[in-house]
Amino acid sequence: NLILAFESSCDETSVAVIEDGNKILSNIIATQINSHKRFGGVVPEVASRHHIEQITICTQEALEEAQVTYDDLNAVAVTYGPGLVGSLLVGVAAAKMIAFAHDLPLVPVNHMAGHINAARFVTDMQFPALALLVSGGHTELVYLPRENEYYIIGETRDDAAGEAYDKVGRVLGLSYPSGKEIDELAHQGQDVYDFPRAMIKEDNLDFSFSGLKSAFINKVHNANQIGETLDSKDLAASFQASVVEVLVTKTKKALHEFPVKQLILAGGVAANQGLRAALTTMMAEEFPEIELVPVPLKLCGDNAAMIGAAGEVAYRNGERASWDLNAEPSLEFPWYDGNIS
Ligand code: ATP
Ligand code: MG
Ligand code: FE
Repeated sequence: NLILAFESSCDETSVAVIEDGNKILSNIIATQINSHKRFGGVVPEVASRHHIEQITICTQEALEEAQVTYDDLNAVAVTYGPGLVGSLLVGVAAAKMIAFAHDLPLVPVNHMAGHINAARFVTDMQFPALALLVSGGHTELVYLPRENEYYIIGETRDDAAGEAYDKVGRVLGLSYPSGKEIDELAHQGQDVYDFPRAMIKEDNLDFSFSGLKSAFINKVHNANQIGETLDSKDLAASFQASVVEVLVTKTKKALHEFPVKQLILAGGVAANQGLRAALTTMMAEEFPEIELVPVPLKLCGDNAAMIGAAGEVAYRNGERASWDLNAEPSLEFPWYDGNIS
């Protein structure tokens, strides 16, 4: 089965050709980071304009690199949410147009399901499964009782982990997005600043990162006022130690409550080396019987390959969008209600 997949929810325009949901024939990614850097974040109008300029070129490249034509395709999959409405609309319009013109089924894909299904490129997914989904806009624990079903069992009450990385990075004078750079600094520093571990002892699976962000910003500002300079390596190490400890502790708690076969680590922040290492250690010690599946580094950030993987599963389960498919900027998985058979 051959799927042409589109991703344009934020600041990456990406088109991929995926075979059987787990083989990447092509995965073209045009990033706009350089256009957004000077603003310290993604500017929605700039983003949509870039998507419009890039989407046709990326589609042609994806087909060429995969050495397929429209006639070889079986379906078109597209991210329709969550994300920036103007950005999403570009991918949705392109996917609809191609599906309509070539008489192909149109498969709607939730971007977050895409992040999780990137795991298919390295393993056969087994259910029930749990996903720790950490990205620029989301931090959530997702329970998958079976294929193509996703339920939130815990999530951040305020900032996403990636958002906290990017905001803290700005205070350190790093360029956007700063997650990777903070990760690298953290490995050269020490956890000496004792930042808060929010909600870690609470009896729920939720997270909070805004208090940590404020504690970090206050620490830096207070030091600046008295003319003291703090070591950014130690700041990064202390910040990362807090984020990682909270994520790993809540994941451990979730695994005690939800017996699963696999734990998937997905989303942009899943590229974090400190998080990957700490989760690997915790899993080996506490849950050696559960397979830990960190999404491959190259597929943690936004890309259309993951949308093709999730799209294949949705396609097999009969999901089809009609021609009035619209962008859904605040699309969310449902909450687990404790009653899934
Ligand atoms: P969402 O998926 O929630 O809609 P998004 O698509 O903008 O948001 P992703 O592209 O999945 O987010 O992830 C981007 C985020 O990942 C950024 O916040 C970036 O700083 C962060 N990130 C990337 N690499 C690392 C790393 N090594 N350590 C920590 N954070 C990282
Ligand atoms: Mg991005
Ligand atoms: Fe994303």
